[in-house]
Formats: sequence, structure tokens, C-alpha cells
Amino acid sequence: MKTGAPTKNALLLLAAVASVAVLSLAALQPQSAAPLPPVVDPGAPGKAPADAIVLIGGADLSAWQNADGKAPAGWIYKDGVATVNSTGSIMTRESFGDVQLHVEFATPEKVEGHGQERGNSGVYLMGRYEVQVLDSFNNETYPDGQCGAVYKQHPPLVNACRGPGQWQTYDIVFHAPRFDAAGKKTAPGDVTVLHNGVLIQDHSEFSGVTGGNLTPESADPGPIMLQDHGNPMRFRNVWVRKLGVSR
Ligand code: MG
Repeated sequence: MKTGAPTKNALLLLAAVASVAVLSLAALQPQSAAPLPPVVDPGAPGKAPADAIVLIGGADLSAWQNADGKAPAGWIYKDGVATVNSTGSIMTRESFGDVQLHVEFATPEKVEGHGQERGNSGVYLMGRYEVQVLDSFNNETYPDGQCGAVYKQHPPLVNACRGPGQWQTYDIVFHAPRFDAAGKKTAPGDVTVLHNGVLIQDHSEFSGVTGGNLTPESADPGPIMLQDHGNPMRFRNVWVRKLGVSR
């Protein structure tokens, strides 16, 4: 046996112990200079978080106006439920950029028509990009026009529709496109959508505006619009959180 071996082993052991101690200490240290995130009361299940703007669910539809901008929202509002009544699409009075948006909707219980004529509506981000709303429960249409599609750009990953008359949810994360100082688009907008809790759009990028847009694509924020497509759709518990996301 070499006489130096125990000393070398002891040194290795000491080094190992020291490494563990340093790693343990490191685990307790912050890995970035980020501040503590603010506290947000998420609210009771089914309710809006404390930092959300409630768009449908309050006393009235005062957060909305008709999409022509000239009149108060004409939809029927009763017991927290807004119903489309052929008075035209409605848009928020406030404009938004990047948002988290929660929407609950129900297609008509009485099934009428087929394809695009059955339970059609839409959620427009910035008034420019439509996430399609449609009764796609046993109702075939073109893939990028069915419920949950980024209209005529991206079909949903799966069809997660509930049946006619049942309440359904969209949870949407939207990033607006980015533009440089000269107005040139540097990054497309994108959207992630959970439909009834199921992922149906995963960072899907917009190739441009979708049909029925209020304004051309630009850096300007825009309203959230809910589409009147002639079907008596219902909406409730709609709320939005502004996202200060930098990319
Ligand atoms: Mg539509």
C-alpha cells in the first residue's frame, strides 16, 4: 500500500463534501435578479382573478359597444349572460395588446343549419384575429373554419367541443405582432388556446389578419370583438388580463 494514498483519498473526500456544501448553498440563492412576482388572488373557481378586467359578468354590458362604434352594445344581457340578437358584433370600449382572455360561450341548444351556419360566432383579438366559435359537435366543415380554428389559418389541434347548449370555455393567451420604428413587422402575433381545458392552438402564428377584421394589421392595440354571425349565441364570464410581455 502506498503511504500517500489515504491522504489523497481524504483530500478527495474533503473536496466532495465541500462541493456538496457549496451546491447546497447555491440552491438557496436566487438564480436571477428578477423581483418577487406580485400576488394575485385567483378568485373562487369560475370567477375572475383579482387583477382581471371583467368584460361580461358585471352589472351591465357597459364595457362594450356595437362594432360600428356608434351605439351601446345591443345584445340582450340578463343574469350575467349576453345573448346575440342580430344587432351586430360588439367590441370592447378599451383597446388591448397582449392579453390572457377567458371566454365562456354556448351554442344554441336548438340545432339549426349545418356547417358555418350552425352556432357561428368568433372571438377577435385586437379586432383583427379571429378564434372561430362554431357548433362543431357532429357538424363537419372545413378544418380551418371549425370551432377553435384561427380562421382560415390554423385548424385546432383537436375537436374538444361540447354539445349544443352546453357551456364551454376558451382560455386564450395572445401576443400581438411586433413592429419596428419604421412600421415593419418584426415578429408575427401568436395565440395559444385551451378549449374546455384542452390545448387546441399552441403558439399558432398569424400570417396576417383574418376575415371580418375591424382594422388592418398594425402596432396599434385594438378592441376584443365578439361576432354576431346571425346565431343566438350566449356568452358569460368573460374577463381579460393585460400582459406586459416582452419578446
Ligand atoms: Mg365566426
